[in-house]
Amino acid sequence: MSRPIHAHIDLSALTNNLRAVRRATTARVMAVVKANAYGHGLLRVAQALNGAEGFALLDVRDAITLRDAGFRQTILLLEGFFSQDEVPLLAEYQLTTVIHSQQQLAWLDAYPRKNGLSVWLKINSGMNRLGFTPAEFPAAMERLKTHRAVRDITLMTHFATADEAAGIAAQLQVFNQLAAPYHLPRSLANSAAILRYPAAHGDWVRPGIMLYGSSPFADSSAQQLGLQAVETLSSQLISVRELRAGDGIGYGALFRADHNMRIGTVACGYADGYPRHAPSGTPILVNGQRTRTLGRVSMDMLAVDLSNIPDAQPGSRVVLWGDGLPVDDVASAAGTISYEMLCAVTARVPVSS
Ligand SMILES: *Cc1c(COP(=O)(O)O)cnc(C)c1O
Repeated sequence: MSRPIHAHIDLSALTNNLRAVRRATTARVMAVVKANAYGHGLLRVAQALNGAEGFALLDVRDAITLRDAGFRQTILLLEGFFSQDEVPLLAEYQLTTVIHSQQQLAWLDAYPRKNGLSVWLKINSGMNRLGFTPAEFPAAMERLKTHRAVRDITLMTHFATADEAAGIAAQLQVFNQLAAPYHLPRSLANSAAILRYPAAHGDWVRPGIMLYGSSPFADSSAQQLGLQAVETLSSQLISVRELRAGDGIGYGALFRADHNMRIGTVACGYADGYPRHAPSGTPILVNGQRTRTLGRVSMDMLAVDLSNIPDAQPGSRVVLWGDGLPVDDVASAAGTISYEMLCAVTARVPVSS
């Protein structure tokens, strides 16, 4: 038998979460599958979400993988093209591209053919990452409207604080004001805005994290939002031992027993993608019971408290996150977000669905 760590992807949870998007909006759904579908596997996720009207990702090679696999939906490159050589691929594979910079406009101008491209023109409404500022936008718009390579234009923006108290009002106002003179399709909303701000749904919504069953908000759980965990990362105990008061655990002896206690060693470490900075006390399930990690996470192992789980023994099932233990609970204990943890699962972890 091989090392017992394993990631299981629940495909019916993905389709359930797509239904949760549908309940929230009547807009078309651009399922965000960047970063290998948030670590879940691009093709398996696209198959489970085949009901979506589009897929958004970053890498033109991944977009071509989806086309070659037979997906006919809109496929959107969220950062557009990164060089002039990628421009012909857009037409060849019918890929939709974001245009966010003057450089991209110049590359497009240098492409000689009539092209029938669909482009999403990105407005920087306040995130200050990508996109044309309100001052630059009208000129970019004029260039694209009459561009020989362009067939249709969608206007988009991205919110910085849709999941926070600050909300989206200021950015929404900037966007709406710029978009008002043009009767073009619009796309603004990530998961948080889909769930909280119907006024920002526009024509296309762009859910990511909610499809994977995690909450975009610190103050409401996935379960409260009707979302189901998609990925379960599980492993087993490979060793169980008794500590005496004063004994330390792991590198740095960061945790020391203050009384006699039973602990276990789990076959999972930071080389599997478990966060090394998760402190003692991070929640974890052993035999379905919630307990806590102890000491520093090693490359291939971590320790758990078995004081209240007398039936635990080598071979007992351990859930790092997923079924029965929301990834959001682990993320908040570890001082990170579910997005990062889901993307961090490494290639050595076998995945099945
Ligand atoms: C990643 C991303 C999304 C999805 O965000 P979630 O918070 O995961 O829903 C939407 N739009 C853009 C432009 C993105 O980069």
